[in-house]
Amino acid sequence: MQHEMRAEYWETDTEQSPPWPVKTWHMVRQGERAAMCGRELRPDARGLSDAEWGRTPEPMCHTCGALYLREVP
Ligand SMILES: [Zn+2]
Repeated sequence: MQHEMRAEYWETDTEQSPPWPVKTWHMVRQGERAAMCGRELRPDARGLSDAEWGRTPEPMCHTCGALYLREVP
């Protein structure tokens, strides 16, 4: 099972253009749109390799982290 990190952004007013500040990183199974915790993420949300999990300055989703660690040996 392949995973990637996807960004959840702070709610921003639509006047503002990207990039928006990242609020939380979630983990998404490859090919799926919703994060493993069930949160729907923007289709254009920034993605990162799952190797970056734990290395970003922004916080990570605890639910995604727990599920991810269960799926990855
Ligand atoms: Zn999550």
